[in-house]
Amino acid sequence: MAKQQFQAESKRLLDMMINSIYTHKEIFLRELISNASDAIDKRHFRSLTDSSLVPEGGFEIHLAVDEDNRTLTISDNGIGMTREELEQNLGTIAQSGSLAFKKENQTEDTDIIGQFGVGFYASFMVASNVKVISKACGSDQAYVWESDGADGFTIEPTEKDSYGTEIILTIKQNPEEEDADSYDEFLQTYRLSGLVRKYSDYIRYPIKMLMPHSQAKPKPEDAPEDYQPEYETIYTEDTLNSMVPLWKKDKKEITQDEYDEFYRNKFMDYMKPARTIHSHSEGLTASYDALLYIPSQAPYDYYSKDFTKGLALYTSGVLIMDKCADLLPDYFGFVRGLVDSSDLSLNISREMLQHDRQLKAIAISLEKKIKSELLKMQKDEREEYEKFWTAFGYSIKVGAYANYGADKEKLRDLILFYSAKEKKMITLKEYRAAMPEGQEEIYYASGSSIDLLDKLPQAEMVRKHDYDILYLTADIDEFVINLLESQDEKKFRSITAGDLNLSSEEEKKEAEEKSTANRAMFDMMKEALDGKVKDVRVSSRLVSNPVCLTSDGSLSIEMERVLNNVQNSGGQFNAEKILEINASHPIFETLIKLYVNDPEKLKSYTSLLYNQALLIAGIPIEDPAAFSNAICDLMAQ
Ligand code: ADP
Repeated sequence: MAKQQFQAESKRLLDMMINSIYTHKEIFLRELISNASDAIDKRHFRSLTDSSLVPEGGFEIHLAVDEDNRTLTISDNGIGMTREELEQNLGTIAQSGSLAFKKENQTEDTDIIGQFGVGFYASFMVASNVKVISKACGSDQAYVWESDGADGFTIEPTEKDSYGTEIILTIKQNPEEEDADSYDEFLQTYRLSGLVRKYSDYIRYPIKMLMPHSQAKPKPEDAPEDYQPEYETIYTEDTLNSMVPLWKKDKKEITQDEYDEFYRNKFMDYMKPARTIHSHSEGLTASYDALLYIPSQAPYDYYSKDFTKGLALYTSGVLIMDKCADLLPDYFGFVRGLVDSSDLSLNISREMLQHDRQLKAIAISLEKKIKSELLKMQKDEREEYEKFWTAFGYSIKVGAYANYGADKEKLRDLILFYSAKEKKMITLKEYRAAMPEGQEEIYYASGSSIDLLDKLPQAEMVRKHDYDILYLTADIDEFVINLLESQDEKKFRSITAGDLNLSSEEEKKEAEEKSTANRAMFDMMKEALDGKVKDVRVSSRLVSNPVCLTSDGSLSIEMERVLNNVQNSGGQFNAEKILEINASHPIFETLIKLYVNDPEKLKSYTSLLYNQALLIAGIPIEDPAAFSNAICDLMAQ
């Protein structure tokens, strides 16, 4: 029979396995057992509606060793594979998450083997030949898939009595060099049972193996007085795993290492989770066990359309769905984990599930748990929380903004912004608590970077009062702040919009008088800017800087920029801009003189001032060449 070649990606991974110098070859067993368990899950689920699929003697995974022939056999009575499935599943691994990730991240080969489940191909780390005999549920014909490694595989019809899969590994010979790896250990029953306990203890089906036990022979009746008991080896079929899923175990009996190991294997993340939430909950509507993890980094596709959120959903120990999206709100979509509840109906369809009352109750309860865990982290482990915020803060802010702020109150306390005064991320509550007597509003400034915002002339008056300013540097921030409106009765106020109400009555009066007295000049300046600004006036927020731009109305200059950057927006968003002039700056006198003596020059100065104000705010100017020429003309005078 002609050999078929492995698909290119598969061959690469396979080569990696065969030549692996990786010390943890032992994980091959975990991989094969977990595949067997998944296959049983599938048959188990189908057997709920088709009793002919319930196996005699129950579901189980079986290990068998033949030392003479150097084989280790792993069998399961799961769903089995058809010929096409053998070819598809074992000849290609394009769908495997681990390789996709590796391509993105170019991790060292050795790392990927240990840190991810590499699946079936891990067998080639310890085996020189692999045979997979399988009969799919409902099929009359079994097939055997066989491969010695990289040069391809064959598939032929074969005989097999029952549905399921049997994997026969011919364990590699020990190399001659003394310090080389030993493969013999994978033929020793005690070693194998140790590996099962270490990696696969929580598998929910019994993993059985014939185990030798030393036992004293019965004492003969005529035994002499100095009788020494004689021992013999007897074999019993033992169940090696405790079968209690990790999430069903008592929390006190689980170490963080076990939680982390489970997370890394199940969710293919090589980083430890930032937080583990293990909870058992008895509710009126539904009771459940949940094991949830907050990852310490965002998956590479988290912020892309390809990402699908969801928790694995078990009911009475049967997996009904890998990713049940309804269990997590979008803004907590980064949470990984599983839920097991015996209150859900087993035969429920996916469509029905969406409307399931119990499921909704569970989702609400989980959301509360996640939030309180995050708040705990924010309080007790601030550095960790800041890392979390860097990875997932955007997701939470989008959540607060989505649906016109429907969920904003749930998320408010989780949100962090940068504090100009503290020079670190703070919560809105923290800002509020630190507000000095007399400060009436919560100030914020919005722009592309902290550096830029630190230099904003509009902040001068706020700083003079020693008030803190929140710096909003993400596009979405100002939209979120606008929806949140206030914090504990103090309104948010952009330092670049409207009247800051920070000057004394006298100062205000003086500014108003100056604005009125020079109204005609300001009107001329406004006209010179040809609709770009709504008004030109004397500033009450500038202290030493000559000019700045502010806005009237609900749309800020920064929001205008963000909205106009959205594809196809057509640039139709316009903030009502105000050009503010500092009346204590010498430029003001210059402008007044020009208004009287040289109106043309006043117009070109106005354009210069406007462009400077744009530049300070980090907004590109329309015609940089004209701007530069105008400055040079000035310099040449
Ligand atoms: P993964 O388990 O990550 O999908 P594997 O390479 O381990 O990757 O397995 C590939 C596919 O082969 C599985 O998704 C499954 O469909 C099938 N498979 C593997 N082992 C078994 C088995 N014992 N019984 C039935 N199908 C199996």
